Amino acid sequence: MNYRHAFHAGNFADCMKHALLVSLLGHFLRKPSPFMVLDTHAGIGRYDMTSEEAGKTQEWKEGIGLLAEEGPDSPLAPWLELVKKAGGPRYYPGSPLLASLMLRPQDELICCEKHPDDKRKLYGLFTRTPNVFVHERDGYEALRALLPPKTAKRGLVLIDPPFEEPGEFARLLEAVQTIRTRFPTGMIAIWYPIKHRTPVRAFHTALQDAGVPDVLAAELLIRKPVDPDRLNGAGLVVIKPPYGFAEQASAQLARLKTLLHAEDVTVTQITAE
Ligand code: SAM
Repeated sequence: MNYRHAFHAGNFADCMKHALLVSLLGHFLRKPSPFMVLDTHAGIGRYDMTSEEAGKTQEWKEGIGLLAEEGPDSPLAPWLELVKKAGGPRYYPGSPLLASLMLRPQDELICCEKHPDDKRKLYGLFTRTPNVFVHERDGYEALRALLPPKTAKRGLVLIDPPFEEPGEFARLLEAVQTIRTRFPTGMIAIWYPIKHRTPVRAFHTALQDAGVPDVLAAELLIRKPVDPDRLNGAGLVVIKPPYGFAEQASAQLARLKTLLHAEDVTVTQITAE
């Protein structure tokens, strides 16, 4: 486990993931009934853009560093307001902190983080937040233990692995099947890197072949994916997206394309409802 998200927090891939995540969670707030968020690969929750790690790669400068001046009508505004609330621009909120800021008292966030140091930092962030639970455990294994949710009928499972070991797409496919069996009504969001097209196409085809209905893929390419050694883009597969999310995602990605000087953005229905 060499991957540390502190080197990459706030980069273009985080921006697209987190803007879309806030839109997804916003749909749960339309009804008073409780919802649960399970963040299987949670990271440390809050990242200091003046840290040694952030300074070493400076990836945030090509991400959140380009997005400061959005007005209230921007499709990115709900997410950027939360970034500010979490201490931005110095501190950049990761997925668990963003989700926690959207919870109501009846909702719940469960985070899994396998790295002991990162788990300690994440735990420290939520010591005073009663409806956020932090586990030091394998996020994939946790699916069987933590689903279906005990306190809610609605919910989102976010899977955001580091892709540092081979076989991650296969593990993701297995995770999708586990979630669909244990929590059939649950929404699923899966982040993936786009280095080159072939493994991503294979993942989409595998979801089709497995008969997973209602799959949407939102992608942002920062440059043409011709050099497989670079992170050329990122995608978020959403299974059971809420009504209206595709349009929201398109608007958010179009704005990100302009502000991040990206090559291309797409929102594609991979399988029908
Ligand atoms: N979701 C976070 C966000 O958006 O702010 C970023 C997560 S980062 C891409 C992936 C994290 O997963 C790292 O902090 C890493 O330590 C952790 N990790 C790696 N393998 C894991 C596993 N099997 N289970 C849980 N966490 C894992």
